[in-house]
Order: sequence, then structure tokens, then C-alpha cells
Amino acid sequence: MSHPYPAPPLLITGAAPYGEEPADIAIAGGVILTVGADARAAAERAARESDIALVETDGGGLVALPGLVDLHTHLREPGREDAETVETGSAAAALGGFTAVFAMPNTHPTTDTAGVVEQVYRLGADVGLVDVQPIGAVTVGRQGQQLAELGAMNASAAGVTVFSDDGDCVADPLLMRRALEYVKAFGGVIAQHAQEPRLTVGAQMHEGDVSAVLGLAGWPAVAEEAIIARDCLLADHVGSRLHVCHLSTAGSVAVVAAAKARGTAVTAEVTPHHLLLTDELARSYDAVYKVNPPLRTEADVQVLRQAVADGVIDIVATDHAPHAAEDKDCEWDSASPGMLGLQTALSIVIDSLLVTGLLDWRGVARVLSEKPAEIGGRADHGRPIAAGEPANLVFVDPYARWTVRGAELASLSRNTPFEGMELPGVVRHTLLRGRFTVRDGVVTGSQDATNSTAQQGVSA
Ligand SMILES: [Zn+2]
Repeated sequence: MSHPYPAPPLLITGAAPYGEEPADIAIAGGVILTVGADARAAAERAARESDIALVETDGGGLVALPGLVDLHTHLREPGREDAETVETGSAAAALGGFTAVFAMPNTHPTTDTAGVVEQVYRLGADVGLVDVQPIGAVTVGRQGQQLAELGAMNASAAGVTVFSDDGDCVADPLLMRRALEYVKAFGGVIAQHAQEPRLTVGAQMHEGDVSAVLGLAGWPAVAEEAIIARDCLLADHVGSRLHVCHLSTAGSVAVVAAAKARGTAVTAEVTPHHLLLTDELARSYDAVYKVNPPLRTEADVQVLRQAVADGVIDIVATDHAPHAAEDKDCEWDSASPGMLGLQTALSIVIDSLLVTGLLDWRGVARVLSEKPAEIGGRADHGRPIAAGEPANLVFVDPYARWTVRGAELASLSRNTPFEGMELPGVVRHTLLRGRFTVRDGVVTGSQDATNSTAQQGVSA
């Protein structure tokens, strides 16, 4: 987005970085000037020097974190603008506290060329609410037959370093090996949707006691674990980086832990819904609970939570997957898998990991901002809250609670599995490069864009 006016200098008073001691934060020119006792003087000096009035915001009672970064978002544009657009997805992200999202390539057309990744990248920049970083497809059309132009996507204006056929597994081991070899040249990473297709033909939900009772075809844990094990060995063999998308089973945690102990360059993510929900919900036959990989068991949920605390799982990523009503409000068998995630992710992490004592706020910043930025190669995000760093920040009220209402979320779709749930943690402000993208819970756009007024689904 081009801004005709420079951002005003900001002074945010009394917020607590990482939930620790409250401190004033001075911001100007897109960067943090200073944090602490001399912030007011620094902000006033910046206002005098720029001749732009200082904007002061009371941050009392709020926790300041580096802006959240989602390594796994589906924005649906191009091709399914009825389910989500870059603009509506960006608004949902900003309201959720995100300053950067990585957009998965299962769009129409697929983001498998330099031209299409640049198109998505520019759409994101035009909206200007979050940095939209396209992920490139590993194979042409995500068909799993031949490698896409990985080098050209990396060399494009979008600077792609993360590649994935997400939604489908790169099942052919030789293609997976070639992809790992290719991205090694520029420090890229293959983000694998780990699902052995032969073991999951027709799968509708987690294979276990509940699927047996319901008579729905099962998606066995081993179908995920076998691919992760294979890919860790391939990454070792090639000396390249592997990232495991939406890891969902206790067995997968064991495989990743063993690989890390051996020195494999593997990182792993878990979704918020896999940290909270279980396959028992399928008993409702409500397709809002249909997701891929499927919701697992309570025992898996507990292991996944502990693995985030232990660092075996590096990050939480939303797998935000909007679907139009016609694809979701139907019979379980014919419904598309996927759930919304951007506006609820932080609250679910607070609920499942912070309130339970498994993570402190530093840990929340690590798994929702610092590590995803690092894995995705975005050095301008996930930075410390400190002088000289980019002013990408989120301010959250840790004690406020809100009730999720799908109809009030900024996404074009309504498929939230958290409908009606009361959750802790409300995002008050989000700043991208020193500008409010969300102020007092409302999308601001910027000084020159006043068209977007989407509100967070807060009914508390
Ligand atoms: Zn996936």
C-alpha cells in the first residue's frame, strides 16, 4: 500500500512487553525508537522533528508481543473469492494479532509460477493490513508429477523460500528428494503435508474407536507418522530443511523428537484446533469438525501440548481454511475439510498453553511469532520488542474474554469450530511497521484507507 502521509509518531504507555514489567514504547518511521523511561521524550522529539502530531495510546493492562506470524494460511484468492479474499483474510489476520501470514498455494490457479506468487504478493501489499508472503507449490499444479519452478519463484519479487503442496502430500519419495535438494541452494524449506495417500483412501476422520462406532472411514495415525519418518531421513540424506505441517499425533511427536535428537534439520507445527478439540466431536456429524489431518484423541491433544512446551513442536500455525457455506453446510462425507483459525488462534493458545502453565508470554511470542518468522525467512517479523526493531506489534488484553460468533468474524466464511465458545484474550491493537492496522479492536486500514471497518467477533 502506498501511504501519501508518513505514519505519525506513536507513544503507547504502560503496556507490558511479554507480560513482564509495564513500559512505555515510542515508535516512529516504522521502527521502535525506545522502550522504557525515556520513551515519552523520544516520541516527543520525533514529533517535533517530523512536524507531525504525536499519537498517544494508553496500553495499561495490555500485554505487548511481537506481531504474530502465521506460517499456514489459506486465503483462497485467486479462484475462490466467495470463500475468502486476500483483503478479508488480511482483515481477519490483523484482528487476530497477525502482522504476517504465509499463503498456501492451493488456489486456482495454483501458485506454482513466479507470475502467480507475485500476483498474490502484490494483492497483499495493496491491502496493506498484513505482509502476505506466498508459499510456492512444490509440484506443477500440486499434481505431484513434476517439480514446479522453485528457483524462479525464489528469484521473483515475492522471494519465496517456503514450498508446499499442502492439501496433498508430496508422496513420491524421489520428487521429495529432488525438492529438498533444489531448495537447499537458497536456504529454502519444504513444508510437507504428511499424509500417505494409500493409507488414507476415502478417509473421513481419525481411525479409532469413534470412527468404528460411527462407521466412517478412518485416517490412521501411521499415515502421518510414516511420511514424517521418511521425510526426516530424506532431509538428513540431502542435508536440507524439512518443515512438518499440522502435525497431529503422539506418534508424530515421537518421530520428530527422535529426528531432532539425531540432528535432523526438521521443524514442526501444530494447529490451535489440534491443541483443543478431539475426534469425539465427530459424533455430532456436524461437518464443521471435519478437518485434514483429522481431530485426534484426548491423549494426542495432551502430548501435542507438552511437545509445544518442550520445543519438539516449534510453532503453532492456524491452517486457516475458509469454506463457503455450500462446501461446509452439507453431509459429513461430501463436506470440504477445514476450519477458520486466524481470529481465534491467540485465544486458543492462551487457553490451552498459557493458562495451563505450559508456556509463559515469552513462549507464546516464540511459537506464534519468532519461530514462524525464522522458519519462513522473514527477518522483518518476529523480532524482539526493542529499540531499532521493526514496529510490528500486537497488544492483547489477557483478562478480557470474548464469545466466538462466526457471523461476526472478518472472514468471508463462517466455518469456525469454536462457535459460541467463550475464550480468554482480546486483541486490542495491531501495528504493522508503526501503523495501526487494528485499533481498539477495529480494522483501521490506514490514514488513506477508511473503507474497511470489519469488527472482531467480540460479543463480550
Ligand atoms: Zn495441510
